[in-house]
Amino acid sequence: MQSFIGIDIGGTSVKLGLIEYGETFRVVKQSSVPTKPTDPPPLFAQTIAKGVKALIASAGSPKITGAGVGCPGLIDPWKGITRTSPNLPLLKDFPLRDQLSQLLNLPVELQNDANAAVLGEWIFSPNSKGVNNLILLTLGTGIGGGVICDGHLLVGADNAATELGHLKADYASDYPCGCGRTGCVEAYVGSAGINRTAQFMLKSGAKTSLTPDKLTTKDISQAADKGDPTAKQILSRTGEYLGRGIAQLIETFNPEKVVLGGGASAAIGYLMPGITTALDQFSSFAFTRNRCKIERSAFPDDINVIGAAATYLNSHPAK
Ligand SMILES: [Zn+2]
Repeated sequence: MQSFIGIDIGGTSVKLGLIEYGETFRVVKQSSVPTKPTDPPPLFAQTIAKGVKALIASAGSPKITGAGVGCPGLIDPWKGITRTSPNLPLLKDFPLRDQLSQLLNLPVELQNDANAAVLGEWIFSPNSKGVNNLILLTLGTGIGGGVICDGHLLVGADNAATELGHLKADYASDYPCGCGRTGCVEAYVGSAGINRTAQFMLKSGAKTSLTPDKLTTKDISQAADKGDPTAKQILSRTGEYLGRGIAQLIETFNPEKVVLGGGASAAIGYLMPGITTALDQFSSFAFTRNRCKIERSAFPDDINVIGAAATYLNSHPAK
């Protein structure tokens, strides 16, 4: 059994996890440190390192084999540099991997957070043992994605492949996306997109218990749980747009499974009718469509921090 640290960097806080992995997998302890996007990068790294040391101490100071970092944005995993990160502009071209390695006196690996997440599902999930063609989609404010194909992580020329949230769900759409374009999967399935669909349905006079001021994905799921037909319809429609993206993924990568993580994956039961409708309509080949399982992540809420730890293992496979 070995112990690893996962470091999941966000805009306002950094989540930390201490993980044990060998014959079994266990998240021993988690913590979170607040960070300010305005902190100068060396201070940012010091704050993280302090948090990691406190976490290790609180778990009884086990020997740590290595640490992995997941960070949003364009990340150079080969040089260990954060190229650009949308919510952390000061991290531009910052050697985060080596700084943390020095501060922690540990080997550290750095990866984009969505790529890290799929590594977490692939390496640690008991449901994905032996599955070497796997796609993870994280459903949150944005839609992240990562692809394991033929037993390795696909990264592309700049570690910027598999921006799966920006596959087009509708080329004629005027639904705006965070990337500046329109009609992306994220424009429909990200939290703002789900809210937009819900507002639209409410304005069209649909009968519902939902009110315009309470339309988070959670509100809509809870209404669906109580049998609200409009709430179910909103989520099914969201599923349709997600399914359009999944259809393209099946055609491109022939995955054994597509795994959904992140907050909105809790609504998978309500998304599935729409996903199935879209796959029936848009995916071209029955064999590859029918053999692809669609399921919820084994770690839906912790996938980013678990994935960060997996980033280390992916570069240094356990012997
Ligand atoms: Zn987009």
